[in-house]
Formats: sequence, structure tokens, C-alpha cells
Amino acid sequence: MTRTVYVNGEYLPETEAKISIFDRGFLFADAVYEVTSVLGGKLIDFEGHAVRLQRSLNELDMQNPCTKEELLEIHRKLVEQNNIDEGLVYLQVSRGSDGDRDFVFPPEDTPPSLVLFTQNKPGLANSAASKKGAKIISIEDVRWGRRDIKTVQLLYPSMGKMMAKKAGCDDAWMTQDGYVTEGTSNNAYYVKDGKIVTRPLSNDILHGITRKAVLRMAQEAQMKVEERLFTIDEAKDADEAFTTSASAFVMPVIEIDGVTLGDGTPGPIAKRLREIYLEESLNAAI
Ligand code: PMP
Repeated sequence: MTRTVYVNGEYLPETEAKISIFDRGFLFADAVYEVTSVLGGKLIDFEGHAVRLQRSLNELDMQNPCTKEELLEIHRKLVEQNNIDEGLVYLQVSRGSDGDRDFVFPPEDTPPSLVLFTQNKPGLANSAASKKGAKIISIEDVRWGRRDIKTVQLLYPSMGKMMAKKAGCDDAWMTQDGYVTEGTSNNAYYVKDGKIVTRPLSNDILHGITRKAVLRMAQEAQMKVEERLFTIDEAKDADEAFTTSASAFVMPVIEIDGVTLGDGTPGPIAKRLREIYLEESLNAAI
């Protein structure tokens, strides 16, 4: 079925949507994005994504083409028109273009480009992958130094996923100076003796919207949380591990670099956090 997508003020069939070949998102990856999940036809943590979008734009001196209320309306309209019960809304803002390729930014009054589309993912909340748990490989983190900005420079994460796939695994965790930064498209955690360990926020990682919610929920559930640097060897020695992201929620990890964690099935803390996250997020969805 042809999706209805949104491009610069218009709702169009996906086959009719167009962006200039000179758009800086296309030529320079000069664009930022957000992915908001949809459960029961409602948006999960829209507010968190809208706030992070504004932060990414501010960090890059890029204009926001819409108010938060307008963005919410576009999200809702696309969810409705495409009949999404479980799935995702992808949003991208690029710096646009003044009609040619130039490293120098175009004049400030050049309108940014705004694109949104939905992805239908029936069974997202109850996915088989989350019941099985993910197998992870570790790779060197060679990305740029502003990973806190959610840019569309996703070539290395994409290569990381391919390296994992070739190794018969599901995903990769990246390491820098011997310490885990994050997964290719998620934040990384391990659990040892009941304590959840994850890297603290900095420019080295994306400030995950799901991370923030899950850490709050863990603390509310009296779980112990420690934000500090950790190595892949520590994670391999863990009782369990997991990742968080808006599109996969809390995803248990059952193997790292060929080492099985626990009994090789999703751990109790990851499973519990997934349940709590889904329940609370559904209740708060708009
Ligand atoms: N880190 C990276 C590199 C990511 O791409 C993502 C997902 N966009 C995350 C972490 C998780 O962030 P969120 O919970 O906001 O989806």
C-alpha cells in the first residue's frame, strides 16, 4: 500500500514526494532526525523527542521549520492516514539548499526541509527478537565527536550492523579508548549483582529518550543504577545486559563477542524494565 508522507507542508503519496538533489541533507548529511514509536495508535514520549530535536537544531544553528504543536499535528495526521497501530514516525530536518553544492552554509533565510514518514510495525511491542534477546559484537567507535547531536550521519552505525550480521549476530556495541560508548542505534547497559551500569551522558553518546525514561523507572522500582564508564570485558562478565531505544524499547542482550551471558536467555531485570517501560509509556502516550 502506498504510504502518505509529509514533505515541506504537503501530505503526498510516497511516490510523489520530492526533495532537491542539492539538499544539504543529501549532499553533506547536514540534517537531524527523530524516531518516535507508536503503540495503540498513539505517540510514545513525543515531548522528549520534540525537545531533543530542538536541541540538535540549536547545536547546528539550524532553524526549526515548525512549532511543537504543528509537529504533533503532522505526526498524528500521518499515524491516522496510514492507519498505524504499532510502528514508527520518522522525522528529518535538513538545512535545505539555495540551489547548488557549497560547503559554506546557505543564507540564514534559506528554508530548512522537513520530511516525515511512518513505518508500520505490527507486533512491535511483543517482538520475537525481544523474547530471544540480541547477540552483540564489539567494534571500535570511529564516529565523529558530537554523537549527542542526532544527525543522519549513520554510515558507520550501518556498517556496524553489517559487521554484526556477517558474524551471525544482531548488533554491535562500539568502544572508545577501551570503554563502551553505545550500540549502533541504542544505549548500552549491563547488570551485575543487581546493579545496572551505563555510560554517563556526554558528547560521546546520544542522550537517549528511552534511556532517560528507563533510568527513571529503574530508580522508581528501587533498582540500583550506576552511570560510569565500563569496558566490554566487564559487560562480558555480567549477569545480564540490555539496550534501549525508541524503536526497540528495552532489548535484552544474551551474548557479547561470543560469550553467553547468564543462561543465554533474557535476564530478569531487562525483562522487568521492558514490561514497566511498555506499560508506563502506553499510559502516557498521546
Ligand atoms: N544511541 C544511538 C547511536 C542511537 O541511534 C539511538 C536511537 N536513535 C539511541 C542511542 C537511543 O536513543 P532513543 O532512546 O532516543 O531512541
